[in-house]
Formats: sequence, structure tokens, C-alpha cells
Amino acid sequence: MITIDRFYIDGAWVVPNSTAKMAIRTPSTNAQIGELTLGNAADVDRAVAAAKTAFETYSMTSKSERLSLLRALAKVTRARINDLAHAITAEMGAPATMAREVQADAGIGHLEGFIAALEALEEEETLTNGDILSREPIGVCGLITPWNWPINQIALKVVPALATGATCVLKPSEHTPLSAQIYAEIVHEAGYPAGVFNLVQGDGPTVGAALSRHPDVAMMSFTGSTRAGSAVSCDAAPTIKRVTLELGGKSPNLVFADCDLETRVREGVAACFYNTGQSCDAPTRMLVERPAYESALEIARVAAEAQAVGDPTNEGDHIGPLFDAIQYERVQGMIAKGIEGGARLLAGGLGRPEGLAEALQTGWFVRPTVFCDVTPDMAIWREEIFGPVLVITPFDTEAEGIAMANDTDYGLAAYIQTGSAERATRVARRLRAGGIHINGRDADYGSPFGGFKQSGNGREGGRLGLEDYLEIKVRPPFTT
Ligand code: NAD
Repeated sequence: MITIDRFYIDGAWVVPNSTAKMAIRTPSTNAQIGELTLGNAADVDRAVAAAKTAFETYSMTSKSERLSLLRALAKVTRARINDLAHAITAEMGAPATMAREVQADAGIGHLEGFIAALEALEEEETLTNGDILSREPIGVCGLITPWNWPINQIALKVVPALATGATCVLKPSEHTPLSAQIYAEIVHEAGYPAGVFNLVQGDGPTVGAALSRHPDVAMMSFTGSTRAGSAVSCDAAPTIKRVTLELGGKSPNLVFADCDLETRVREGVAACFYNTGQSCDAPTRMLVERPAYESALEIARVAAEAQAVGDPTNEGDHIGPLFDAIQYERVQGMIAKGIEGGARLLAGGLGRPEGLAEALQTGWFVRPTVFCDVTPDMAIWREEIFGPVLVITPFDTEAEGIAMANDTDYGLAAYIQTGSAERATRVARRLRAGGIHINGRDADYGSPFGGFKQSGNGREGGRLGLEDYLEIKVRPPFTT
């Protein structure tokens, strides 16, 4: 049993004020593996006070001092990569290979992107009118992260705060406290001054809301559902803090008949199922140009039926369980809605996959599912399912495909499969989404990640990810 009953505040592991507890369960069996103390508003006050005091001196550090600290952070993160990966597998069910090579590794990839961006950042510049513009850290930042890509999201928020000279209080998802606890150990070992980084575990309505409302917090950076992002914005409004939001998605995947159909459809299915469908930018709506539709359905069916589902503690490229009972019931409910709503079930369906080991029968495994002939009025077409469920529909013209792709409240990512470079550029310009993937390739670490419309605002990663944490100040040139 793992017991998390200390928060990291002011450079030390402290006993929380709160005594509220929550079980930590592992998704592959639903067995309890630990217990978490959930913080309260007093714990938030203590952490914010430490961050506020630390800001006085940390905000005055030089870029080269902060770069040295970031390089130390990279070194310690590399040394702890297996610990992070094991924690992620245990707490949210990402399979071992993917947890290590992608989930935990993102903590290093983003960090390297931020180091390169900070090296290139001009902290002070002279404008063409002679005035001097400086970029300064915004203050104490409240950082709230989700459970689905825990270290990826933590790195995308903690690192730019540390890089710019801001100080922070992290509230990770209450469902993934283990990797966050290790991340705090990593920051500590890297040698950051006390109070620069603080960790308070707890739930959203208590700890998240207290952070969002806190008058001494200058900025909230939030990743999670649109519902909770809206709550953070409301809570932050009276104190006029900066709020950046990375929210949900229902990303379209436009498959044109001139692409390498077999590869592009197969990879599109795999990308939708990746992380058991629990990625905000997953290509969950596949739109196929009519002449290729029937062939694409067959390729998708075969790919879905071949998708291995299994024990996340094993190495391999299978997918693991969903992360909890609520998520399981929600995905089952959406599959049922798809069937009742008249969509044609091409693969998968309700219940658990066949052939699961006895020990995993209590885990939150679902069948990789594909629906076709889905219409835009159906819930499975419009709502984020957050499970391995792909919906497919045909389109006739490029203009119609683009219109269907853009007909969503979200705008996080959009995918294009085509053999034509001209078409790829033309369509990319018309898609209302922050990240465009073309023929299986997406942006690298260091590029900004974020969404249009209800997928959020702000951008994470690289130079633009740093700028969210900076205030702009201008002064005239000195004269007497
Ligand atoms: P969630 O909104 O339930 O929780 C996310 C975080 O917000 C957690 O730390 C939670 O404790 C906190 N929270 C919940 N209610 C809150 C409140 N009222 N005030 C303050 N904080 C609150 O989301 P989740 O289930 O953890 O994550 C899944 C969602 O996150 C999906 O919608 C997914 O698309 C989205 N997501 C978006 C991105 C992105 O970069 N755009 C990345 C990953 C996940």
C-alpha cells in the first residue's frame, strides 16, 4: 500500500492541514493500491504563501541561472524515468512500454523544447520607437492537470513557470497522485529554491477552486474538461487573473481518396485507440471521401479487430484499460447510444474484450469499437467519448468534408490524409483547429499546443508556452 500523506510546500514534505482521504486504485484490476490525503483551502493558502515569498527572489534570477536549473531538472528527470513510468502504469493504466517511451518521456521532450525556447528568448528589447520592452514572470501560478497524460501535462505547466522565473503551486489530478509526487521529488533534487515549486494534492472543487479564487495567484493554467475549465474561469474572474485553458476535443480525420488508404486508415484507427482513446487530441471522427468509403470501412474493421487489449504491466504495443469505473460506464453508455441511435457497428461493442485474463476481469477494459454511417446529429459524433471508440462517415466534396470537420464546438486538432501537398496546405488553412496532423505526422516538442473554440485558449510548449507565463513591461529610454 502506498500512502501519500505529505505535500511538498516551501521546499519540504509537510503534513497536510486536511485529513480527508481517498483510495488510490489501479485500473487494470480496480484493486486499491494506496491512499491519498486530499488537501483543503488551508493547504492551498500555505503553498501560495510560500510561492509568493519565493517569487520575491526567484523572479530576479538570471536567465543563465534558470537554464542551469532546467538542465539539472532534465538530468534528474532522465534518472527517474522508470519510476515515473511505473507510477503512470499503476495509477492510470498506460501500458509499460508506452508509459515509459511516450508518457514519461514527454517530461523530457517538453523540457528540452522549453530550454531551447528560453535560450532564444529576448527578455528585453528596444522597440522601433526607442522604448524598452521587458518580459517578466507573471507571479504565483496555479497549475491544474488531468489524469490522462499526467507527466506530459505537468511538464507543460511546471517547466515554463520555472523557466520564466515564476513560482507555482501544482494541483495534479487526484486520480494520478503517484507520478506527481515523484515529479516533486525530481524538482527538489534538481535544486530549486524553497517555495518556487509546491505540490498540493486534492480534488478540483476543493483545492482547484481555492487556487483559482486565491487573490495572491496571478495566473491559472488548467488542462482538463471543458466543464471544469469553465469553473476555473468563473472562480478566477473576480480577481482578474490570467487563465489559460487546454480542454477537450472531438478531432476530425479527413481521409481523401488520393492517400495511401491502407496505411492512413490503419494508422488513423490506431491513433484513435492510442492511450485507450483517452487523449484530448485523438482523431475520433473519421471522414472519408465517398469513393474510398467502403474500402476504408473494411480496413478500419480489420484494424480494430486486430487491436490488442491487455495487461498494462506487460511490455508491448497493446492498449490498457480505461482509467476508472466512471469512465468505463460513460464509454459503455456512449456505445449503447450509438447502437440505439442507429449507427452501424463495424467492430467492438458493449462489454469487456474477449480473452482477458481472469485477474483482469475486474479491470476497466473495453472493446475497441468502430461505428460507421454516423450522422452529425448523433451524440457519438458530437461528444467527446474519451475511450477507444471511432466514428466514421462519408463526404462527397472537399468543401463538404471541411464543413463537417469544422462543425463542432471543439477545435484542438485536425488530421488530413492526402497524397496531394497542395490539398494538404489548402485544407489545413481552412480547418479551425490548433494542431494539424498530415499523413501521420504532427508538430514536434517545442511547438505550441492548444485549441480553438471550446478546446481552450493559450498555447503550451516552446516559446509561446513561455510567453503565457510572462508579463510585458515598457519604459522609455533614460533621459534626465
Ligand atoms: P477534469 O476536468 O475532470 O479534471 C481535470 C483537473 O481539473 C483535475 O485536476 C481536477 O481535479 C480538476 N478540477 C475538476 N473540477 C474542478 C473545479 N471545479 N475547479 C478546479 N479544478 C477542477 O478532467 P479529467 O477527467 O481529469 O481529464 C479529461 C479531460 O481533459 C478531457 O476532456 C480531455 O480532453 C481534457 N484534456 C485536454 C488536454 C489539452 O491539452 N487540451 C490534455 C489532456 C486532457
